[in-house]
Amino acid sequence: MHVCVSSAAPPGTRARGDHEPIAIRMMTAIDDMTTFADLNLRPELQQALVSLGYEEPTPIQQQAIPPLLQARDLMGQAATGTGKTAAFALPLLQRLSPDDRGSAPMALVLVPTRELAMQVSEAIHRYGQGLGARVVPVYGGQPIGRQLRVLQRGVDVVVATPGRALDHIARRTLRLEAVEVVVLDEADEMLDMGFADDIESILGDTPATRQTVLFSATMPPRIDGLARKYLHEPVRIQITRDTSPEGEPSLTHQRAYVVARQHKPAALGRLLDIEMPEAALIFCRTRTEVDELTETMNGRGYRAEALHGAMNQEQRDRVMGRLRAGAAELLVATDVAARGLDVEHLTHVVNYDVPSAPKSYVHRIGRVGRAGREGIAITLAEPRERRMLATIERVTKQPIAIERLPTVAELGAHRLERTRASLEAHLLEGDLEHYRSVVESLARDVDVMDVALAAVKLAHEASGSATDPTEEEIPEPPRVPAKGQGGKGRQGATHPPGGQTTRLFIGRGRTAGIRPKDLVGAITSESDLSGRDVGAIEIADRFSLVEVPAAAADGVIAALRRTRIKGKKATVRRDKAATRE
Ligand code: AMP
Repeated sequence: MHVCVSSAAPPGTRARGDHEPIAIRMMTAIDDMTTFADLNLRPELQQALVSLGYEEPTPIQQQAIPPLLQARDLMGQAATGTGKTAAFALPLLQRLSPDDRGSAPMALVLVPTRELAMQVSEAIHRYGQGLGARVVPVYGGQPIGRQLRVLQRGVDVVVATPGRALDHIARRTLRLEAVEVVVLDEADEMLDMGFADDIESILGDTPATRQTVLFSATMPPRIDGLARKYLHEPVRIQITRDTSPEGEPSLTHQRAYVVARQHKPAALGRLLDIEMPEAALIFCRTRTEVDELTETMNGRGYRAEALHGAMNQEQRDRVMGRLRAGAAELLVATDVAARGLDVEHLTHVVNYDVPSAPKSYVHRIGRVGRAGREGIAITLAEPRERRMLATIERVTKQPIAIERLPTVAELGAHRLERTRASLEAHLLEGDLEHYRSVVESLARDVDVMDVALAAVKLAHEASGSATDPTEEEIPEPPRVPAKGQGGKGRQGATHPPGGQTTRLFIGRGRTAGIRPKDLVGAITSESDLSGRDVGAIEIADRFSLVEVPAAAADGVIAALRRTRIKGKKATVRRDKAATRE
């Protein structure tokens, strides 16, 4: 991957808010060998990374951590899955004073949603455990009293949604005078959700000496505007668009499945059953995941071996020997451990998680499809990693087909087909005379077709192919809005819908200045629904999609057709999803 780092003039040469062009420094190659040790993090933080099983910093971490440790402001273009949370969390934790901590927070992280507040807070807590970091998530929907008590007890880092942060600021329960670092995470998402004024107001209450860090998956002009106003000579980091893999186009078929984390082991098992790889290399992000997945797959009857950076050469040789000899069919590995690995008969590469950078994806899938042979690359992506998948597609200029996981019925049919093919092979092979007397004897009393059926059943069960009656369907994950996919540039917010919902199409979108709160406002003022009844909202450039309870759909359509949204009439109808997907 080429990472483009651009940096403004040296500190002190211009004031915040100036508009000079920004000098661009191209980093044509990142130093692959950067380790966490090179980043000069405190021992407690390094220890946390070891215990989490992280082997090396991701590209965004390699690029962002050094300037952040130098207290520079930073603007990073990074989606979920790149490791951006650790990229900003580690440097801010580095600042924690070992003793003598006050009760007011030294860092404030603003995030768009409650889910992200919890996730980011948990991540910072894990990274900062050895430092005794006090981290609290603060979001709407949770009783404010609980948050009040935690804030009163004293915290180091507050991870908050902007609305709730403002509530606490107004109540003086969140004091910002000691804030040294402010992070705007998923800034584009926050702006889309209508939080611009809230963010500006919060930033205005923080000390001018603060370090400001902004991460955003996309960099629309509004983000630039925000950065110009509130970031001081920021270092800019982004994955450049023109990074393309060298050499021939890959012969590897690339596919992805979107699946929730808890269903990944089942999904992997199902795909392996259908694919029947001769040998597959499965990539995980961390050592811990490698060990866990190896154990899970062995428990499910596969012959899996683990390979990671904590293993010595002898252990690695043993594992590779087993794979080459065919005594193992799955090799579960981290990127570091699999570097330079060459396995002749590898047919499949599986990304158990979306890799943290396009470059890593290209490296990984390059293990198959060598020497003119075809290979298969499968990626399991969590719903929130879809955007990263789209980035990889764009950067590698190779399509990754998003497919549906096989259902239990399809799996059953596939296994049956395998038994059929196996019987057919035996028929062609002949040499069946030995069994003739058995069939003849049975056929005296029953139809020969029934004899055949029983034989097929026996063969099917004996091959271990019979469908497990406890095998459950893997639910399709709920759709989350994914920006920048299919060129539609959808943006939006998700609220939890309850019960049956209908999706409405509204013929105005971002270019007409529509924000989720405009739609919620129009719906709630024109119908009996409350804001809580409104489900997922997606805002594309020229249209929006809103989920409402199915029973209320007709009423809402009629009401919206009568009214104006942001002063203009709009087409409103049921969404014909099939025409746009
Ligand atoms: P994020 O993009 O911050 O949401 O991180 C995505 C995932 O990558 C999280 O599950 C992190 O725990 C994991 N992660 C972050 N940094 C690293 C790293 N250097 N090595 C392995 N995993 C990482």
